[in-house]
Amino acid sequence: MTSFRMAEMTWPDYHEALAQDPVILVPVGATEQHGPHLPLSVDVILPTAVCEGVAARGGYLVAPPLAYGYKSMPRSGGGQHFPGTTSLDAASLVAQVKDLTREFVRHGARGIAFIVGHTENLWHVSEGCDLAYRENARLAEGLRILNVGYWQFLPAETASAIFGTTQIDWDMEHAGIMETSMMLHLRPDLVHMERLVEHAPSRVPGYELWPYDIDAVPSDGVLNTAGAATAEKGKQFLDAYVRSLAAALGDAFK
Ligand SMILES: [Zn+2]
Repeated sequence: MTSFRMAEMTWPDYHEALAQDPVILVPVGATEQHGPHLPLSVDVILPTAVCEGVAARGGYLVAPPLAYGYKSMPRSGGGQHFPGTTSLDAASLVAQVKDLTREFVRHGARGIAFIVGHTENLWHVSEGCDLAYRENARLAEGLRILNVGYWQFLPAETASAIFGTTQIDWDMEHAGIMETSMMLHLRPDLVHMERLVEHAPSRVPGYELWPYDIDAVPSDGVLNTAGAATAEKGKQFLDAYVRSLAAALGDAFK
């Protein structure tokens, strides 16, 4: 196999690669505000990097990412009121997961893993996987479909080393230390640390309310402080995610 990036392959190369029965990894991101210091594509860049790290170990292909995701919720993404946040209704996301699964199955794939980079996608991708499995399992013997958020695999020792605790409120980490550090490691050209303003964490309540209180969301879109982010921490996060996700996928698709 010359590459693991599906988008860079010719169709005969892709066809030949599929004969080795690889698991197809599909990053599922979002186009969403990530504060004044990070680009709108953070939730695409980060899961794609984790997928590529896993795929570099062999046995995987990385499909082109889904660049749009489910709506930004105030509690975990700041909400839909920010310019740039460009979201899908749940039915659209579910349909994309179903359509992609059908196509990969038609190509001959029997292992498909959706690697989510945006919290709000998780349940909708689950629904897409469930419907896709129901529709395709009879056609494709041995079919397995997996859904996971890449950040859900932070080993305890990495969490303690960086945060000083293993109790992390991932919703509040939107545009925070983890995402900012990984972007500093992977794409420092897209990070503007000088634009960060230290402020109190988000005061959005734990329930979801329509309409939500815009004033409870920090006006810059950063839900918690990102000032302690560094490229070194970003490399620690990425290495840890690649290692633990590769182990989990190895178990799920053995
Ligand atoms: Zn994000």
